[in-house]
Amino acid sequence: MTFRLAWLVLLVVALSACQHRPVRSPLAEWSPSSNFDVRKPRLIVLHATEMSSATAALNVLKTQNASGRVSAHYLIAESGHITQLVGDESRAWHAGAGRWQGINDLNSVSIGIELDNDGNEAFAPEQIRALVTLLADLCQRHGISKQAVIGHGDLAPTRKRDPSAKFPWQQLAEAGFGLWYPEILAEPPSGFDAHLALAAIGYDTRDLAAAVRAFHRHFRAMESDGEALDAIDAKILFQLSQNRINP
Ligand SMILES: [Zn+2]
Repeated sequence: MTFRLAWLVLLVVALSACQHRPVRSPLAEWSPSSNFDVRKPRLIVLHATEMSSATAALNVLKTQNASGRVSAHYLIAESGHITQLVGDESRAWHAGAGRWQGINDLNSVSIGIELDNDGNEAFAPEQIRALVTLLADLCQRHGISKQAVIGHGDLAPTRKRDPSAKFPWQQLAEAGFGLWYPEILAEPPSGFDAHLALAAIGYDTRDLAAAVRAFHRHFRAMESDGEALDAIDAKILFQLSQNRINP
């Protein structure tokens, strides 16, 4: 290696190290304080890759694609193998445009977990077991509320449907994660507004039919059309609105 080449290599290494330095304003004098920490995620968002394999998904999540760059913090294969792609303290690009409990920039406050699933098939038991283990670890390490686990379709009801109506939300709730309701439901009081409750638990109801579709997919495991909520929906929404926990 010539001296010139060695110098170039050193320069490239130094420049790449610079990328991770804190962003400083050119207008201010830098007088660093040690009294800070990294961002604290408050929400966990579950996705289905809607692709044919975990290997194909891993490639998309790590490269530049025709429709832009996307990523997630974790990818869980059908076998239950967990891959981490982005540090928990960093902002991965998995949520996109959406809203949940009035928060618009969901990438900044969440951890994204992709599940290898084509979007129509049942989820593998090994994969759900691995997810539960990962959720327990994330909630414990970061102090995230165990109820603050939602689907991509919940926060982006007009654009997304993952992780699909096949996702076992009830099983996840029995393991202690996400929102669910008891088998025997109380009658809501007279005057109870189910559509208002939909917004109160977190859904963006500006497109009401889309919000109802997302609710049905998550809490009734079905695809629906229109804005109508039936008596069972009202009971479920009354129960969920009673238990609402802010992420
Ligand atoms: Zn997604």
